[in-house]
Amino acid sequence: MQFNFIANTPVPSSSGQTIAVVDPSDGQTYDEIQRSNATDIDHAVDAARQCFDTAWSRLGAAERGRLLMRLSLKISEHSEQLAAIEQRDCGKPTRQARADAVALARYFEFYAGACDKLHGETIPYLDGYSVLTWREPHGVTGHIIPWNYPMQIFGRSVGGALAAGNVCVVKPAEDACLSLIRVAQLAAEVGFPAGAINIVTGYGHEVGDALARHPGIDHISFTGSPSVGTLIQQVAAARHCPVTLELGGKSPQIVFADADLDAAVPAIINAIVQNAGQTCSAGSRLLVEQSIYEPLLHRLGQAFEKLRVGPATLDLDVGPLIRQSQQQRVRKFLDDARQANIGTVAQGQVVDSAPASGFYQAPTLLRDVPVTHRVAQEEVFGPVLCAMAFRDEDHAVEIANATQFGLVAGVWTADGARQFRIARRLRSGQVFINNYGAGGGVELPFGGVKSSGHGREKGFEALYGFTTLKTVAIKHG
Ligand code: NAD
Repeated sequence: MQFNFIANTPVPSSSGQTIAVVDPSDGQTYDEIQRSNATDIDHAVDAARQCFDTAWSRLGAAERGRLLMRLSLKISEHSEQLAAIEQRDCGKPTRQARADAVALARYFEFYAGACDKLHGETIPYLDGYSVLTWREPHGVTGHIIPWNYPMQIFGRSVGGALAAGNVCVVKPAEDACLSLIRVAQLAAEVGFPAGAINIVTGYGHEVGDALARHPGIDHISFTGSPSVGTLIQQVAAARHCPVTLELGGKSPQIVFADADLDAAVPAIINAIVQNAGQTCSAGSRLLVEQSIYEPLLHRLGQAFEKLRVGPATLDLDVGPLIRQSQQQRVRKFLDDARQANIGTVAQGQVVDSAPASGFYQAPTLLRDVPVTHRVAQEEVFGPVLCAMAFRDEDHAVEIANATQFGLVAGVWTADGARQFRIARRLRSGQVFINNYGAGGGVELPFGGVKSSGHGREKGFEALYGFTTLKTVAIKHG
């Protein structure tokens, strides 16, 4: 049984109810988390406020940085344990789960070093004045986390907020809480004051909603679906609470005929099968210049057929999807594509030893997908790649920008001038040229435009969002 973690103490929810924790690899229940409600959020926000007022805001920036660094080291010491927890909770193949634990430690390392480097400015003004700006924390920040990368998203969101001097109330996704409860325990062990990091588990429409509405929350960082992002923004708008929204994507990989295909092919595959396609920045649309469309699809098809899907601990190319409803959702997209006569180039294989009760989906490469079909427009959040051909640069940009999303884009071409032309024209928060994802990039500001959200997390840029700027004008004559 798992408990909430409030003020460095494991506590049951006030409802006395729990939610089953299911292993996606076999569909079996193996643990329980608390089904919390608004009362538990009250408790967590009170603890966080108390911590902010009496402990956290009194720490010097360097001291805060040392605490974050101690947590980073502690996470590294426990990375195998954290990876194993996340693997079972989320169905992540071993290499992915380990990479997520490493990234979590790296976020805290990066933000540990940033604490004492965040500063304001002095501004030249009228004669007889001195003007300066202070970057101040919001205070108590709320963090609503999705299930696809709990550790990584916790690291970037909570790490940045703490570094900027805030305290945190965290609502993990109901499907993936266990690693974050453990990280909060580790934070307590290295000396974080009670109330600096609080974890409250439960359903989004209950405890997530209560967190977003709570008048004691001074900033909300939400990572999740565009539809829930809209709800959060509406709720926050009612009390003018600032919000960072990290939402979904339908990211294009644009491949020109002069691209280095030996480099592009593995990156294209990884960008859609990593985490079984349940990645906001998944490269889910493949835009290929007409002259190499058939040969590239042939090559990718051969690679797709070799992809193996199975239980997380087998550490194959692809693990299970998070839950049954997600599996049904992905299948519905594929059924709709079939009914629209969209062709399948190739599919991977679910291994024989995969339990029938697990939530598996073979990676699928679709061809000649109409730009306006829902499988090319909506976020599938599964290992489904939609290929389509383009005529020239203008056509490529037109297709790339023709969705509601704008999170990430990949451009593959040897032509340096074209790299810049295209990168400028893409409506997207990040553009990768001759690579995709840059290995995660803790240092690289991340976020979207359009329905992919607004505000930036990761890198130093995130610290501006986690602070508010105060201008102080002194008239001294
Ligand atoms: P989701 O929106 O269903 O849930 C995200 C979180 O919001 C969960 O913790 C959930 O419990 C909570 N929630 C749900 N309803 C709520 C409500 N009414 N009020 C408050 N909280 C509520 O998303 P998901 O299915 O967990 O995650 C998948 C989505 O997240 C995809 O769209 C994906 O692209 C997006 N995502 C975006 C990024 C990014 O950085 N841009 C990263 C990861 C995932």
